[in-house]
Amino acid sequence: MREPIFSLEVFPPKRDAPVGTIYDTLDGLEGLKPDFISVTYGTGRQADRTATARICRTIRREYGIDAVAHLTARYADQDRVDEALDMFDRAGVKAVLLLRGDSVEGRRPSGVFDHASDLVSYVHARRPDLTLLGACYPETHPEAASPAEDLDHLKMKVDAGVTHLISQLFYRNSDFLDFVDRAGRAGIDVPIEAGIMPITNARQVRHMSRTCAACIPDGVQRMLERWGDEPASLKEAGIIYASEQICDLVARGVDGIHLYSMNQCEVTRRIWRNVRGLFRPGPGQGQEAGLPPR
Ligand code: FAD
Repeated sequence: MREPIFSLEVFPPKRDAPVGTIYDTLDGLEGLKPDFISVTYGTGRQADRTATARICRTIRREYGIDAVAHLTARYADQDRVDEALDMFDRAGVKAVLLLRGDSVEGRRPSGVFDHASDLVSYVHARRPDLTLLGACYPETHPEAASPAEDLDHLKMKVDAGVTHLISQLFYRNSDFLDFVDRAGRAGIDVPIEAGIMPITNARQVRHMSRTCAACIPDGVQRMLERWGDEPASLKEAGIIYASEQICDLVARGVDGIHLYSMNQCEVTRRIWRNVRGLFRPGPGQGQEAGLPPR
């Protein structure tokens, strides 16, 4: 059985946040030596389009960790995508997570890249040297008419050139494992990393579960009822819950774990301390771009 990989996700600080906050985050995560750190891409009007590339460059050059840049294209045209790819290139990025992106209120999509698979086809033709990643949804994307249709669309994305998938967050491992099984039967044979978002804040869990259509299982519901108004206790419970999710998934032979760090170093480090022994011979020794061999 192949060793699971371990990756982290960070996001660029908000425009009004001190620029140093991301360096504090990266300093806090450095010792974890993940196979790669991915950096999200802002879709909103206020988003700084250069931030993802800048942070990727820092991750690679100053921390010696492979970086994966996210790129969304719902509001972009080809020039904008080319511009982003050039920025990533200058930052030494070799792997890109290609996304459609969510709707932004009051903003009209460009109509050039309606689906992530359109962006994948474009980038694959233009930059065959890049490793392309895509997103997937164990509990089905909220806009999809059915799980089967969502899986058909995912297969299109893989056929267009995606060689590695990262899942949306989920709280019930059986949802992810069922999905991996269905994806395999649909002929999707690329590695699928399990996206784990630690529970640290009751409001955030309810919001994410609404927007991502992630089911809140009884165990999580009880945690929210018991410690929803006690953030410190909820955080402790969240660290245990995420660690147990990861332990179970690794025991079942998943391809990898993608931890949504939410830029929270302490929580991320404590989870890593709990689970790092499961990732022998150890992350950070992977391929260029940190992805398992194709
Ligand atoms: P798609 O793969 O295009 O799927 C979106 C919907 O369209 C699905 O319902 C699908 O079934 C349907 N669809 C796909 N192809 C077709 C087709 N040909 N015809 C008809 N319907 C189709 N958002 C950001 O803004 N920035 C980020 O950095 C970011 N990072 C993310 C990282 C991960 C790991 C994940 C899981 C999500 C991330 N998101 C990010 C959120 C993401 O942008 C949203 O979930 C978005 O709604 C869907 O993006 P997608 O690339 O999965 O879209």
